[in-house]
Amino acid sequence: MSSTKYVFVTGGVASSLGKGIISASLAKLLQRRGYSVTIQKFDPYLNVDPGTLNPYEHGECYVTEDGAETDLDLGHYERYLNVPTSQANNVTTGRIYQRVIEKERKGDFLGKTVQVIPHITNEIKRRIQLLGNTGEFDIVITEIGGTVGDIESLPYIESLRQMLWEKEGDCIVVHLTLVPFLSAAGELKTKPTQHSVKMLQQSGVQPDILVCRSEHEINDNIKRKLALFCNVKKEQVIEALDAETIYDVPNLMKKERLDEVVLNKLNLDLGEEGELVEWNNFLTRLKNPKAEVTIALVGKYVELKDSYKSISESFIHASSTNECKVNVKWVHSESLNPEIAKETFADVDGILVAPGFGERGIEGKLEAVRYARENNIPFLGICLGMQMSVIEYARNVMGWADAHSSEINPESTHPVIDLMEEQKKVTNMGGTMRLGACACTLERDSKAFEVYGEVEISERHRHRFEFNSKFKADFEKMGMKATGYNPTTGLVEIVEIPEHPWFVGVQFHPEYKSTVERPHPLFVSFVKAALNNKKQ
Ligand code: GLN
Repeated sequence: MSSTKYVFVTGGVASSLGKGIISASLAKLLQRRGYSVTIQKFDPYLNVDPGTLNPYEHGECYVTEDGAETDLDLGHYERYLNVPTSQANNVTTGRIYQRVIEKERKGDFLGKTVQVIPHITNEIKRRIQLLGNTGEFDIVITEIGGTVGDIESLPYIESLRQMLWEKEGDCIVVHLTLVPFLSAAGELKTKPTQHSVKMLQQSGVQPDILVCRSEHEINDNIKRKLALFCNVKKEQVIEALDAETIYDVPNLMKKERLDEVVLNKLNLDLGEEGELVEWNNFLTRLKNPKAEVTIALVGKYVELKDSYKSISESFIHASSTNECKVNVKWVHSESLNPEIAKETFADVDGILVAPGFGERGIEGKLEAVRYARENNIPFLGICLGMQMSVIEYARNVMGWADAHSSEINPESTHPVIDLMEEQKKVTNMGGTMRLGACACTLERDSKAFEVYGEVEISERHRHRFEFNSKFKADFEKMGMKATGYNPTTGLVEIVEIPEHPWFVGVQFHPEYKSTVERPHPLFVSFVKAALNNKKQ
């Protein structure tokens, strides 16, 4: 193929319409026709990356293999496509400005006035084409965060306009919009979409395809009307109805022929239409569960479920493999205490203690670990959750009452979780944790080995603190084993209690690697253990 093609996905009328899911679904359909596709997201905020954001702001921070802290939509891209993303797949306005300002300070602009056009837009265009220029991809889908009309989106829309002009025939724009239903009038309304398209046109951008989110069927008349007012053909108006699960969307988009319309617009061959065999097997199992379990997810951000997006998606993947519906019971760690633990966990078959930072809700997390350990309930602790399992064991089994993490209590006489050596000199908060994929070697005689079926694994990290190896022998003597460690540094990555039916704490984040076609073995095994626990 001659050159990489670009599909831009913009959003109009309202936020949260699901640009990420539409982009991922389109990519999936193109992938099944034999195209190599990647998706990238441009976020219009000024943080250099979302790593320093509180999850309440934008939900989970997703970590890639190469250690980039990114928007949670990248998680969807990986879960759908089964292809790893990287730093190049997520760019913020902050990063764009940082680079331009660095160049200005170096004197790269030769005495010129540095301006949004052309300097910022040039940097945006350069970043848009980074992945395309690797030659690895036939099609790059670029999702523009935010909504058309936002002040902060303007430089992106202007960059699209320039690219559409400069690379005529190689770029198209898919505009995702909302067609609301007014129950009083009993009608779907097209006006908001017309306005949003006008707004794009005012910036010199004509969308090629409209994807219309709606709660009701968008009939031919409405499609015709939208086509007429928005300068597109009727086939280029795509209906996107609310779906039972996000994993239905590729099939819905296939029915609407979104992939065909896109390929036609890009003058690309339709290729051979492969079936989504594995994908649909996954869906069939997901929708026909033979059993049901309830797993408590204990965390301090549970009011905003997006804070734990990858964890809840991993449960969906594992539930399909086990043909067992997983109900997640969201438990706020701040309100958990010994008095209500029994009642809170009476109906749960497994307990997961979530990742996190800082002191809020810590005692509740420790209580959740204690309950799982003492009552033989399958337990999975992730990152901070693993650290809590170590502290709980030290306090309640080993009798070290003031055991803690030096993140919370730097004065503890038993800092069983301590700052990593290389973290001690770190002063900047952004992008300085232990991030991304690291190797881990498993002990053969362990639950972890049973689960993974291999000795050398690799998982993604995001933390500053670690299991304090000084105390390793004490823990092992008292029944908590380190069963996974980093082959070069020796850092402990996994702890287990062999006497417990299923008790695993992992310093890494397995949830980032679970996909539809490759559900993560730890989640699969954890759900299975919960199911066994329920049967008993
Ligand atoms: N706050 C802990 C640390 O920095 C755990 C981080 C996490 O759960 N991602 O080590």
